[in-house]
Amino acid sequence: KALRKPVLFTCSSASAPRATVMAAWVIDSYGPNEVLRFTENAPFPAIRYPNEVIVKVLSAGLNPIDLSMRGGYGAATLRMRRDPLNVNRSGGEFPLILGRDVSGVVMECGLSVTCFRPGDKVWAAVPPWKQGSLAEFVVLSGNEVSLKPGSLSHPEAAAVPYVASTAWSTLVNSAGLNKDNCSKKRVLIIGASGGVGTFAIQMVKAWGGHVTAVCSQNAEGLVRGLGADHVVDYATGAVDIKLKTLDKFDLILDSVGGDTERWAPGLLKPWAGARYITLVTPFLRNTDALGVADGMMQSALTIATKALKHFSKGVHYRWGFFAPSGPALDEVREMVDAGQIRPVVEQQFSFSQVPQAFLKLEKGHARGKVVVSVD
Ligand code: NDP
Repeated sequence: KALRKPVLFTCSSASAPRATVMAAWVIDSYGPNEVLRFTENAPFPAIRYPNEVIVKVLSAGLNPIDLSMRGGYGAATLRMRRDPLNVNRSGGEFPLILGRDVSGVVMECGLSVTCFRPGDKVWAAVPPWKQGSLAEFVVLSGNEVSLKPGSLSHPEAAAVPYVASTAWSTLVNSAGLNKDNCSKKRVLIIGASGGVGTFAIQMVKAWGGHVTAVCSQNAEGLVRGLGADHVVDYATGAVDIKLKTLDKFDLILDSVGGDTERWAPGLLKPWAGARYITLVTPFLRNTDALGVADGMMQSALTIATKALKHFSKGVHYRWGFFAPSGPALDEVREMVDAGQIRPVVEQQFSFSQVPQAFLKLEKGHARGKVVVSVD
């Protein structure tokens, strides 16, 4: 079934005069929570390419990357992505708007947009190199946007796109899973109680896989409620020893990193195509520290060395990344509307409470997502 159909409507750039500024939370430098500033004079986004749409934000979602970006994480790579010819002065990314998830309504379409029209209710994950969703409006390319599931409210929908796009890119593109080949696959999810984990559990379960979830004991009810078959508490220690007593796995999705990388690949079925995929990579840290060229070289060297080392032991080692994709969100919408996946909203904040929302994120121990109502 085609999930993305052209609509019988030719979108065009509006000719009526419209606002040149909007309300937004911006940062003017990298740093702690105090750098967040509310303004009613942020530049109104403009359609620069014919495939772009402007979305009126009704709800926004926060992710750990917003916290990291507030502190300057990834600045070198993201600056290069925004300004490849390096024509802007240093700090040209400011005022920078954070917020990676959006649920809202299409306000305006570029001339070549065929699948959306003004008034459509949509959701999207905003790539980190674009201005974010903690604002009244955001501009995105049409292929990053998807029609929102009808069964979700805007705050619920804003809890999904970034973690869904990351889980999709990892489980489908990097691990090669889909609804036809996942049945009975043994999947270990480390960091199961967070945004990505709570989504990934449901996706694997919807496709018939077997999920072992690693989380704190007080998250057991949450992850079991999402379908996890087996739960292992890491907080009482020796999680690697506990996991070694279980049958080996076909896939490990690790959203915790650090020490887990030392023991987790040993839990995979050897010489059976099994994969360990970690979301915690040094990619952006390397370019921050070494510059773009040397940082990328260092990352290539690191991944090649690790992949080779694990390959010699019969398992595959990969890094997983967020990838913006409207078509992937179209598939997720079908799963949500079919009742196979539900959003996990931990806490909702109003637009005036954005600094409090960041503080909540900063405390860690997420049990799902933090969302902000912008309307
Ligand atoms: P969250 O903050 O939503 O969740 C992290 C979860 O992990 C929390 O529930 C936390 O709960 C739990 N946790 C912490 N330590 C452990 C541990 N040792 N074992 C098991 N669970 C643990 O984060 P996200 O799910 O959104 O993202 C997870 C990670 O993935 C982040 O580091 C993020 O930056 C990264 N990421 C990377 C992407 C990429 O493109 N490479 C894209 C998206 C995310 P508690 O502390 O109570 O146990």
